Amino acid sequence: MSGGLDSMLVSKILERLGFEVHAVNFYTGFCIVEQRRRVDGSVSSRNNKKLINPALKSAAEIEVPVEIIDISKEYLAMVTHPKFGYGSNVNPCIDCRIHMLREAKAFMDRIGAKFIATGEVVGQRPMSQHKNTMRLIEKEAGVADLVLRPLSARLLPPTIPEIKGWVKRQDLYDIYGRGRGRQMKLASELGIADYPNPAGGCCFLTDQTYACRFFDLMRHRDEKVLTMEDVVRLRLGRHFRMSPDFKIIIGRNESENELLEQYAETGMALVAATEAKGPVALVEGRLDDNSFVLAARLTAGYGKSAREAAVDFTVRIVGGDEKRIVVEPADPKEYEKHMIIHDPGARNKVKRFRPANKPRSKDVMPAVGKEADPIDDRGYELREIVSESGGSGPLDGADIHGQIGGPEGSGEDEA
Ligand code: SF4
Repeated sequence: MSGGLDSMLVSKILERLGFEVHAVNFYTGFCIVEQRRRVDGSVSSRNNKKLINPALKSAAEIEVPVEIIDISKEYLAMVTHPKFGYGSNVNPCIDCRIHMLREAKAFMDRIGAKFIATGEVVGQRPMSQHKNTMRLIEKEAGVADLVLRPLSARLLPPTIPEIKGWVKRQDLYDIYGRGRGRQMKLASELGIADYPNPAGGCCFLTDQTYACRFFDLMRHRDEKVLTMEDVVRLRLGRHFRMSPDFKIIIGRNESENELLEQYAETGMALVAATEAKGPVALVEGRLDDNSFVLAARLTAGYGKSAREAAVDFTVRIVGGDEKRIVVEPADPKEYEKHMIIHDPGARNKVKRFRPANKPRSKDVMPAVGKEADPIDDRGYELREIVSESGGSGPLDGADIHGQIGGPEGSGEDEA
């Protein structure tokens, strides 16, 4: 149960058919609301109260028991090495669904349930909710014919619950596509009054800038490994790739400054003004005077002391020494080109990932110039696309997209 309307409807439909429903929610570490709730301790903008886990809230609304299972550790390896590649951003939706269905099967076996039901709707999501993809996902997850999708079951081949006569086809639905009209009508029929609005995306992996930062990080690491601390840092602050061997993250507000301090790891340094309150910078990679001075100058440029001639900074190497430096604030505009951000205007200097052997579709720009830069063992590569008007380099703000899956900005949020 994701906490969205579709999974609430499925629970109510099955209850109406006489089944005892046990919901399960998987915490991947990338869920936007849940990470903000767990990591930031965010409060609701509506009532200023602490955020509630969306699955718990929805399960309480429809009165079904729900178990929350943390799968974040195993999930990290899947995100860095998805067998079926990424969607428009860094969302490995097919692998994600496979992973969740495997976990759901384990949950099903543990509680002695008969089958799995999901709130998936055929054609709703571009990557994982097409009929053929659903079959592939089930096969890979080892749950072939065990997954009932009550909202679209009449459009799909019968599954075990139908074959065995536990449910009848006429009690199920034939909802197709992205519209929400039929679901909303059904919600009112089933007495569901309070449900969340469909969100733009439930996980950070569908965010374009997050994807740019992720691919930048992977490209500059010796090993393609991601930690839970990375997962949090990737969404914080402004990120600058200053050179292949170091990057700087600068907090944009007090909460981000605190989180940068909390999520700094060995091999990193924190740089903050000694006296004045202001942004905190985190240096990752090469830790030397040049990188500290650059981080301090840029941080000063974003702070209240931007117009002063010199600002005193303290550099704290995590688990190591502390030192003071005095720097002249820099003009952040001068470093804009180092910012790792989705830049829709940068189509001519795009860095794209695609499977090495996948033929180019017409919207994939031809690679010019440099050799492919292999980044993992599954044949994915980063190619630099050099525009006619100018070169691109590792320091340019780049627009990075995966090449498997649907249109830009698409993602699967009904997990
Ligand atoms: S959008 Fe949904 S299916 Fe896709 S990776 Fe995120 S949680 Fe998984």
